[in-house]
Amino acid sequence: MSDTQPETDAKLVLRSTRVVTPEGTRAAAVVVAGEVIEAVLPYDADVPGAREEDFGDDVVLPGLVDTHVHVNDPGRTEWEGFWTATRAAAAGGITTLLDMPLNSLPPTTTVGHLRTKQAVAAPKAHIDTGFWGGAVPANTKDLRPLYEAGVFGFKCFLSPSGVDEFPELDQEQLARAMAEIAGFGGLLIVHAEDPGHLSSAPRRSGPAYADFLASRPRDAENTAIEGLIAHARRLDARIHVLHLSSGDALPLIAAAKRDGVRVTVESCPHFLTLTAEEVPDGATEFKCCPPIREAANQDALWAGLADGTIDCVVSDHSPCTTDLKTPDFASAWGGISSLQLGLPAVWTEARRRGHTLDDIARWMSAAPAALAGLTRKGAVEPGRDADFAVLDPDAAFTVDPAALHHRNQVTAYAGRTLYGVVRSTWLRGRRIADGGGLAAPAGRLLERDR
Ligand SMILES: [Zn+2]
Repeated sequence: MSDTQPETDAKLVLRSTRVVTPEGTRAAAVVVAGEVIEAVLPYDADVPGAREEDFGDDVVLPGLVDTHVHVNDPGRTEWEGFWTATRAAAAGGITTLLDMPLNSLPPTTTVGHLRTKQAVAAPKAHIDTGFWGGAVPANTKDLRPLYEAGVFGFKCFLSPSGVDEFPELDQEQLARAMAEIAGFGGLLIVHAEDPGHLSSAPRRSGPAYADFLASRPRDAENTAIEGLIAHARRLDARIHVLHLSSGDALPLIAAAKRDGVRVTVESCPHFLTLTAEEVPDGATEFKCCPPIREAANQDALWAGLADGTIDCVVSDHSPCTTDLKTPDFASAWGGISSLQLGLPAVWTEARRRGHTLDDIARWMSAAPAALAGLTRKGAVEPGRDADFAVLDPDAAFTVDPAALHHRNQVTAYAGRTLYGVVRSTWLRGRRIADGGGLAAPAGRLLERDR
């Protein structure tokens, strides 16, 4: 990017005929003082002495908050890293990300490991970056210190995670971790697939997607979620279901919410935009766990978003090197890269289904910010950080993997035509991405509000 950074103490006015605010989309002038939104005024308001930007009909969204990113740094930096991940995120309109505790070495399971990761991330972060801790069988005593050190909550698995250094919890360990975390008011976020259902499912290696899908049945998710809800109900614990794929689980989640169980749910761009029917044989860039399911299941997920059973949409960006995406679905690495593409992918399908950019802002910014307790993020309103994604929602582009800033250009979206071009991204009043250019790292490390 060629232009110089604005002084952050100068006033700035960003005008657009379409600013997405919590009260709806309207023509507005967003006044930024330093790093913070000071006011949202009528479009033609006079703000003497301020620097002016007019985006015309391009839409001003709150900067996206992606609470589910595997950055893998340090330790598996050939898969991704804070430099590449946060550049890709900035190019995709994301201004805040939370890093998952596994696939890096070390995993974020002790305060010492957290400090190691923070030190690695600090000089590379192009956007604001925080950390989830991990709950594994041997670290119950580390959970409270991690929480006090600033992690936003704790991730656990109920079935093998894919890496040996991050083991899953059995039901007894789950109950113990959930009770410990509930004891200090924390949040447990869960990869919910039941190991019993997975081990009794048919397993066949090879390039056929149908065989892989059969090996990760909906019942594995449904059963795991049912069990989680029962624990949360009994312990009055706060839980979050990660990457929901099975639409069959929606009625029991909706019922739990109605009963006052403190459960929230996310789904991901790939479950909402890709279907099992279209995955070519051997195309393991489409492999993730739980898996992309059938088109009818996808309709159920959209209904769950529309009625609020699903709270948020976050990427679960989980990249790897090309060689790990072998054509065998049983042995290929499971994970889909989408950090830079989540907004246009979801918007393309959302607009086709009659949803608006207000919905997108709620699902991809406000709700994930609320999940993590990020009270300064997630909305274009006075007092929040001046984080914005400026989007031309009507412009289309064809996904060219070579144009992605991810460390590896493997993507399930290659060749797709998507709506929604991110024209610029703003972090705390600074333009950090602009028409393909990226500014120097200006991200901050975030810790849970205390
Ligand atoms: Zn994940």
